[in-house]
Amino acid sequence: MPSEPKMRIGRPQSIHGVGSDMPCENCGFVRHYTKYQVSSGKMSKLCQPCSVAAYNATRPKVSKEHRALVYAAWYQRNRKKADSYANDWRKRCRAELIEKFGSKCSACGESDLDVLEFDHVHDDGHLESGCNIIFSVKRNPSRFQLLCKNCNWRKELKRRRHALGLKKAS
Ligand SMILES: [Zn+2]
Ligand SMILES: [Zn+2]
Repeated sequence: MPSEPKMRIGRPQSIHGVGSDMPCENCGFVRHYTKYQVSSGKMSKLCQPCSVAAYNATRPKVSKEHRALVYAAWYQRNRKKADSYANDWRKRCRAELIEKFGSKCSACGESDLDVLEFDHVHDDGHLESGCNIIFSVKRNPSRFQLLCKNCNWRKELKRRRHALGLKKAS
């Protein structure tokens, strides 16, 4: 039984046929037809990066400094709301992450959520750029483990003693 060529629902056929690559009218780069945006049933003649660039060019340029000022002013006016929202968000994320990590210390099994914290498995926390640890754990869960405060402190002491020992030896 001959099978019909599969059409992707919601994507009009490109002028070069279904599933074919087509060149972007701006940069000339040949990309797969799914890389072209479709709006109101028409396929863009520009590839996605070019359409994004074209769109950005139509918007007034706002400097980083200006955006920071606007945000600072907004924050002054909405401080309470913003802070409580951020706090809620952090609490929620922390709870979700702790659950994902098994809700207990990976060294001793302590399950009191109040004393559990995320620990950099390889002690590479200094590589982090000062942002909230929740972001780091979300981005890179394999670099973290759950430890209770006791075990974390034990690990830290061990690390310091080790570092001292190495210094003495040399
Ligand atoms: Zn292009
Ligand atoms: Zn522990």
